[in-house]
Formats: sequence, structure tokens, C-alpha cells
Amino acid sequence: MNDFSADLGPLGLKIVRNARSRRLRLRLDRREGYPVLTLPRGVSERTGLAFVQENLAWIRERQAARPTPIPFAPGTTIPVGDHDLLITRSADRRGTTRQVGDTLLVGGEIAHINRRVSDWLRAEARRQLTSRAHHHADRIGARIARVRVADQQSRWGSCSGRGVLSFNWRLILAPSYVLDYVAAHEVAHLQEMNHGPRFHAVLATLLEDPRRGDQWLTRHGPELRRYGVTGAASPSS
Ligand SMILES: [Zn+2]
Repeated sequence: MNDFSADLGPLGLKIVRNARSRRLRLRLDRREGYPVLTLPRGVSERTGLAFVQENLAWIRERQAARPTPIPFAPGTTIPVGDHDLLITRSADRRGTTRQVGDTLLVGGEIAHINRRVSDWLRAEARRQLTSRAHHHADRIGARIARVRVADQQSRWGSCSGRGVLSFNWRLILAPSYVLDYVAAHEVAHLQEMNHGPRFHAVLATLLEDPRRGDQWLTRHGPELRRYGVTGAASPSS
């Protein structure tokens, strides 16, 4: 018998037992790309592994089709709003990060550059999203309790019943009208906690063409998750 972990590459295989599942299921982990096998009740691991073996070509094909991660490193150009910034290492030993024209100068040790660029982008995302959210809230007389910027896996933004707006920091890597769209969308939820006609009416008072930002995210949003990847996490959970 073959060694499956070797066949499947360095990420290995994760096996999940699921009593409610009716059939053998194989998929790739959305974030890390390793294969995940779901075993229904009463199906042996041996049967499951044979199923994986039959589908090795499918797994490799799907893994190859995944977008390549783009770590934040010197020489990499990253989209920030409507500009492209070239990450460049500066001689500054203290590790400050600053934008000079189309260059993002990052100091300190090379091992920390990815982290420093991430921190800078998050701060920039917070600054712009806070500014745009307050701009829109003022126009409709809504009150924002707090603006949060986090690393959500699948959402671009959310609005809590207490008026806390949460945004995905990766929006800073999208064109500025997209970031503005998500800010306006969550602000509109301060008045309408649904996606009904009244919500869309509020959103239409804030943006000329709300569908434009939404369409961009549907088409290009997944690409933004490639940036700043530092390496595969362990597939255990
Ligand atoms: Zn919504």
C-alpha cells in the first residue's frame, strides 16, 4: 500500500468522522489547501483511504488550481487602495514602516517584514474604514459604537445589534470604492438589520452604485486572501 501522506504532499490528510454524514466526502481545506476526508458512521478508515487513493489526481488538480500565496516580502508589489506599493527594506534598524510615494519602506530584521507590513496594512485599513464609516453614518444620522478591524475568514464586514461595525483588514488591498462600499453597507445595517428593500433604499442614499463594489468582491475577493500568507498551519482541529 502507498504512503498517503507522502502522496498528498507536505500538508497531509485530515480525517473527520461525521455521524450525520451519509457518504464519503473529499474536499480541500479552504484556507490551507490540505485534503479533508469525511467518514460517515460505519465506514472504515481503510475504505476511506482507498477512496482518497482513487481521487489523488482530483486532489492534485484542485491543489494546483489554488492561487499561489503572496507573502509580504521586499520586492513584492501590493495593491493598497488605488495604488501599487513596492515593499522595500529600509536601513532603519528600529523597524518602522512608512510609505514614501509608491514605496513602502520597512525597517528592522528581515524575519519580521511580513508581520510589519501586515501591521501597517491593518492600521491603514482601520484608519480608512473608520473615516468612511463615520462619513456615511453622519449622512443618515446613525451612531457607530465602535469600529473593529479583524482577520475574518469569510466575511468582509458585519454589524452588531449594539452598533459595533467589524471589517476585514484585507479590504485595504481592494480598490477604494470597494472598501467604501463595505463601509456604507455595514452603516446601512445600523438602520436596517436585514437585506430587504428598506436596507437597499438606505444604501442607495449613501452610494451612487452599490452593486459595483459588491460585484468586485464576488469576482476578486478570494484573491485578496492570498496576501501575507506566512505558511501552512497544522491541519489539526
Ligand atoms: Zn449585509
